Amino acid sequence: MNAHFDIIIIGSGAGGGTMAQALSSTDARVLILERGDFVPQEAQNWDPEEVWKKLRYRARERWLDGRGKEWTPYTHYGVGGNTKFWGSVLYRLRRQDFEAVEHADGVSPAWPIGYDTLAPFYDRAERLYQVRGQAGLDPTEPPRDPYPFPPVPHSPGMSEIVEKLRAQGLHPSPLPLGLLRPGEAGGCILCNTCNSFACKLHAKSEADICCIRPALERPNVTLWTNARASRLLTDPAGRKVEAVEVERNGTTVRVTAPIVVVSCGAVNSAALLLRSKSDKHPSGLANSSGLVGRRYMAHLATMMQGFHPFRRNATVFQKTVAINDFYLRGPHTSYPLGQIQSQGRTHGVMAQTAYPWIPLWPYEQWVARGVDWLAMSEDLPTPENRVTVESDGRIRLQYRANNLGPHRMLVRETKRILRRLGFWVVMTHSHGSTNTTHQCGTLCFGTDPRDSVLDTYCRTHDIDNLFVVDASFFPSSSAVNPGLTIAAQALRVADHIKATDLRQVEPSR
Ligand SMILES: Cc1cc2nc3c(=O)[nH]c(=O)nc-3n(C[C@H](O)[C@H](O)[C@H](O)COP(=O)(O)OP(=O)(O)OC[C@H]3O[C@@H](n4cnc5c(N)ncnc54)[C@H](O)[C@@H]3O)c2cc1C
Ligand code: SF4
Repeated sequence: MNAHFDIIIIGSGAGGGTMAQALSSTDARVLILERGDFVPQEAQNWDPEEVWKKLRYRARERWLDGRGKEWTPYTHYGVGGNTKFWGSVLYRLRRQDFEAVEHADGVSPAWPIGYDTLAPFYDRAERLYQVRGQAGLDPTEPPRDPYPFPPVPHSPGMSEIVEKLRAQGLHPSPLPLGLLRPGEAGGCILCNTCNSFACKLHAKSEADICCIRPALERPNVTLWTNARASRLLTDPAGRKVEAVEVERNGTTVRVTAPIVVVSCGAVNSAALLLRSKSDKHPSGLANSSGLVGRRYMAHLATMMQGFHPFRRNATVFQKTVAINDFYLRGPHTSYPLGQIQSQGRTHGVMAQTAYPWIPLWPYEQWVARGVDWLAMSEDLPTPENRVTVESDGRIRLQYRANNLGPHRMLVRETKRILRRLGFWVVMTHSHGSTNTTHQCGTLCFGTDPRDSVLDTYCRTHDIDNLFVVDASFFPSSSAVNPGLTIAAQALRVADHIKATDLRQVEPSR
């Protein structure tokens, strides 16, 4: 079977979902290809045992590391992609993140666009994902109008912590969060199974709920689930993608469209281009720079928990506080250290995954008295950190963390802060290089085709009708959560496609 559309979008996560929503209002016939299915609304959505022990919703795929050892990536394949499981912390990059910044291990490169270019699209993305926050409190905040929705209030316990943080001379601010109608009928109930869980109430701002389902109400938008794009096929000259080869229901079909947008996530988008090599593109599609798959980044992240044996933590929804005082420079260094965020409550089952042979009850006692935090730092792009594909098509991800010095300083500083808050013990845990949740940077955008894969509108330099709109365009990882920036750039690219490519498609229809 062959089918023809005006635009094919491959992937339905932060990039692809937002793109689909933005193009749904046009006349273009849009096909969304998604390798996974809808995440069912079911009791297991909020069951830590199912989510953390049985890994019910994780991608059933094994990747190889740099040494050829198999491992399970922390990623999800389904409608909405990883947004379905995200913590919905929806940050703008800081103005400085768009500029070249000196770090301990080298320079975080400048983006080819500045904050002011993306600012109007951040505004739109925040409205689309219904972001709640409070402007004017975060010392690193770029210029902006008020948030579209007021911040999620801190629980009494977190309010007390915020006051104590201020007394330490810090500048805590509300985390910007995408939650739908908290406190209203049918809205978010501010529960303790949000980050890493799918929302059973469909009250989380994510790409399935905010973008894909509304887009599917339009007659011009079609979604194929369980449809994995295996290769992109070009015309004989190699200048245009002519068809997408799709594995669907056990068969291989071809779909054609004059415009193709790849949004498979940073690792899978690079893998798709590499798997699409041909005589005209022997090292992979759009790879004249040799950079496809390179400069993979993922953030340096350490989970931290302050513990006090005689203080039960009564907070249910804990993820409301950010500390950005060390984002641009540390207290004892001129280098940036990163960000500190309060986290969702750790469940005993989650903690037990660190040492599964210890019974659950001590973990339950422990986490009932803990307050959870995340320390997150920027990692830097290097050509050695890269995605490649094996001869059988399997993904190999080679990643060696860098910029570890500043991250360790951030963890130390966070420990100090937590001890000053009165916690007796501070525990730390990191998934290290297996944490692929914030993957980005494998197809970076830029103005020079020798030093980037995509142009500033995420069109590949080499292939005229091929765009990549997901986390892979990031030239640097910054130290804030990537989702809102992916969505904002998707909206920007959608406007560009509407103004240029779609205009050319329309007369031929
Ligand atoms: C537990 C967790 C918590 C997170 N918390 C936050 C947070 O609070 N804030 C934040 O900003 N970010 C957060 N993130 C990161 C965020 O989810 C990602 O940065 C974002 O979803 C990436 O968007 P994307 O479009 O690049 O890829 P994805 O959202 O991963 O979407 C890619 C899509 O492509 C599909 N796909 C892949 N290959 C193919 C193929 N060959 N054919 C067809 N379809 C394909 C996948 O199934 C998927 O649906 C979190 C991630 C996780 C896992
Ligand atoms: S109800 Fe609210 S806090 Fe709970 S999972 Fe849904 S969006 Fe997250």
